[in-house]
Amino acid sequence: MAKGLPKKRENFSEWYNEVIAQAELAEHSPVKGSMTILPYGFKIWELIQKELDRRLKELGVENAYFPLFIPQSFIKKEKEHLEGFSPELAVVTYAGGKELSEPYIVRPTSETIIYEAYSRWIASYRDLPLMINQWANVVRWELRPRLFLRTTEFLWQEGHTAHATLKEADEFALKILKDVYQRFLEEVLDFSIIAGVKSDSQKFAGAQKTYTAEVITAEGKALQMGTSHNLADNFARVFNITYLDGQGRRNYVFQTSWGVSTRLIGGLIMIHGDDFGLRLPPKIAPFEVVILPISEKEVGFAQKMKEELKSYRVFLDADFVKTLGERIYSWEKKGVPIRLEIGPKEIKANKVLLSQRDKKEKTLLNCSNLNKLIMERLEEFDFSLRKSAKEELRSLIVAVNHWQDFQKVINEGKAAIANWCGNPLCEENIQKLTTATSRCLPFSLEKEILKALDSKKCVYCNKSLEETKPWVFAQAY
Ligand SMILES: [Zn+2]
Repeated sequence: MAKGLPKKRENFSEWYNEVIAQAELAEHSPVKGSMTILPYGFKIWELIQKELDRRLKELGVENAYFPLFIPQSFIKKEKEHLEGFSPELAVVTYAGGKELSEPYIVRPTSETIIYEAYSRWIASYRDLPLMINQWANVVRWELRPRLFLRTTEFLWQEGHTAHATLKEADEFALKILKDVYQRFLEEVLDFSIIAGVKSDSQKFAGAQKTYTAEVITAEGKALQMGTSHNLADNFARVFNITYLDGQGRRNYVFQTSWGVSTRLIGGLIMIHGDDFGLRLPPKIAPFEVVILPISEKEVGFAQKMKEELKSYRVFLDADFVKTLGERIYSWEKKGVPIRLEIGPKEIKANKVLLSQRDKKEKTLLNCSNLNKLIMERLEEFDFSLRKSAKEELRSLIVAVNHWQDFQKVINEGKAAIANWCGNPLCEENIQKLTTATSRCLPFSLEKEILKALDSKKCVYCNKSLEETKPWVFAQAY
């Protein structure tokens, strides 16, 4: 008999690891801190890629590929960028049998190598905006690895654009966050998102502004799902990326960079998983439907059904070495939205027994109108995941006005919304005392939350300044 899962509410961390193992998503590798993504996990990533790639291309973004190795001198050019990434860098000093004259950095992100190219590619306003994306792996040395959340090597997309004005760059960075990432996270992954602006201490190394989309997990921690940075002309000045405008004047370009990674899969597990395993939103489920004939005798009927449902991703599981119960249990853990069981009784009546991953009861369905029924069930399941994520988020964020309540909320494993005056010292002290960091100044807040924040004072120092605004604070992964 297969091993059971720990309860999500009782031991979140162990539950998370076991879901990954038993759903066969990924495993730790002999390379410390690096993971191997297994075929089932990689199928999810491919579907995420495909849909996100389509949405980016709709905006006119093109894909390209840049080298894995970055000359050390490139990284050293932007001071904040270097400081931000230094502790995580992997450096190649020896190759081809000898010491290298200049060490290479294994890319932690590609701003510097891409912007060296941009300085050669961009000459006139006619070259703008330049909008390029790359799907790649990056390396950030990780001391406390966790599958999909923090690994030394991970997969991502990184977009890099150049614009004529700061306003255009800022609008584009926001567009990526709101129109691409937030919509993708809500419409495809069925997440409920907190989106907003990062504080100066939490923004990307070298950015003027960082926009973020985050989820709050069942243990009250924030998980950053996507970020988009307005880099202003910081990198353009360092890499000398200029263009001639219509009047023949030379100006620096203004840039953005933005990315999401395989971390999204970690988010999927944490947000939608339950005590029985994964629950995958239909749009990124490797199989939307699995057909389970009870014995060899029903395989022919099952094959015809699979053929009829060819507009869906369907898997026909005829592995009779396992009992029906074992097969059901395993697909439940893998989070397949719909299971169809076929036995002799069903064939006789031209029916099929349907179970939906979020419901305990099974329904007997007529086979004559199966395509439409499956579509309705998938939509219903999609909707129900989105709804439960929304309710969960509401219960995980608490509006607080007083410092004692703030500490209590964080200690209870929740996120807090509280007024903060904007002083970095308050932010620092809050983190020291509670380990919670400022997550973002949300773009919008529900009326109930605003109502609950009746004090206009900073939750830490009690000052009421013009900059005092409601921020989200939480511990983070
Ligand atoms: Zn304060």
